Parts: sequence; structure tokens; C-alpha cells
Amino acid sequence: MRILILSDIHANFTALEAALAKAAGRWDVAVCLGDIVGYGPDPAEVSEKIRGLTQACIRGNHDKAVAGIMSTEDFNPVAKAAVDWTRSQLSPELMKWLAELPQGPMASNGIVMVHGAFQDEDEYVFTPAQALEGLLDSTAGVTFFGHTHHQGGFSYLDNNLEVLQIRPRAAEFFAPLRIEPNKRYLLNPGSIGQPRDADPRASFAIADLDNQTVEFWRVPYEIGKVQSRMRKAGLPEPLVQRLEFGR
Ligand code: ZN
Repeated sequence: MRILILSDIHANFTALEAALAKAAGRWDVAVCLGDIVGYGPDPAEVSEKIRGLTQACIRGNHDKAVAGIMSTEDFNPVAKAAVDWTRSQLSPELMKWLAELPQGPMASNGIVMVHGAFQDEDEYVFTPAQALEGLLDSTAGVTFFGHTHHQGGFSYLDNNLEVLQIRPRAAEFFAPLRIEPNKRYLLNPGSIGQPRDADPRASFAIADLDNQTVEFWRVPYEIGKVQSRMRKAGLPEPLVQRLEFGR
């Protein structure tokens, strides 16, 4: 079973389409770790696509904010403006779908999915100390998380926690990670729609646990097209510009 793992799509349909085109024929089921909407110009298109494509999908903080089940008090003004605009673009049906997305952790196809941290869906996992809880507490050996928009992750065996720096080079589309028996993993596929790890290419992962492999993918897309739709929609300029830097 090959699982396509998508996260933090953030209403970027061009990036999602580019990723799906490259991944075509390489996966059996698709799952999503949340933040389907927010920031980008295509919330309705992306929500429709993810609703039809994924077998399992959990919510992210932006999905909650747009659906009105989380206050935007803690959001910065730029993210809040995007939330308000996103609401104006979604049909009642899609708003309802977003509002009813389940909360992680969720077990699916032999992996566990969370948006942020294992015990707190809104917490960012950047450091080994933050990763330890999820590595120890998750009910699966391989857990996927999103939220930080940084591709990579952590592994754990016999009190030894390792930071995994896995990233395809500029000329490559994916870098494989070998999954070792008994080791525990907390892995981030990266963000489709707004990468923040200095590589602007759309990121995702494909897990094939029967063959002990997780591939970390990066796919270029037409960033300029997305930026012009964002400007036309009046979305905040910092959100427009960060796409080309991957920051
Ligand atoms: Zn996000």
C-alpha cells in the first residue's frame, strides 16, 4: 500500500495540481494532514479536490479558523485577513465539510496522522524536545505531522533521537528514507502550498511501509500564476511574496 501524504495545501491549486501530476501512478491511497485552506487564492477548488481525493483527512488550524470553530485572535493580521477572504469564497457545503473535519491523531493505513504535535494539534514541532512526545506516545511506528511547513523529521531508537535532514536536491524530485524495523519516526511531508524551508517547490511524501520506504518529494510549479491570482483577490502582499522564496 503506497500512501500519498499531503499537508498544508493552503488553497494553492496550481501547486496541488503540479504535485498530483508528478505523483500520478505512484500511490494507492491519499491522506491529508490539514490546512487545506488559508493564505492561497483557490480555497474552493482545493477543498473540492481534497474532499474527493483523500481517504482520510484531518483538520488544521486554518481550517478551524475559516470554519469558525477557532478564534483568529492568535493569528497575525495577515493570516487573519486571508481567513476572512477565504470565508467569502466557500459555499455553505464546503464550509460544513471543513467544520466537520476530524481532529488528529488519526490512524489510517498503518500510519498515524497529526496536524501539529501528537498531544496538541495546534503546537509546532520544530525541535527534538518537541518531537520526543510524539515519537514515544504515538500508536504507530511511523507518524506524519504538518503545521511547520518544513520537510523532514525525527527518528527514535534506544534513547537516541535523530534529526532527519532529508531533502531532494534542486535537480531531483525525491529523496528516499529507509524505514528501519523497531525505530520510531515522526515525519513531515512539508507543505504543498506554502513551503517555509527555503525551497519554494511544492512538497509531499509517499510512504510505502510494505517496502520500508518513505519518499520526500519536491515539485516545481508556476508560482507567478498563483501570485497574480492572489493579487487580483487582494490577498496581503507578504503572503504573495513569500511563495517565491519558500519562507
Ligand atoms: Zn499550515
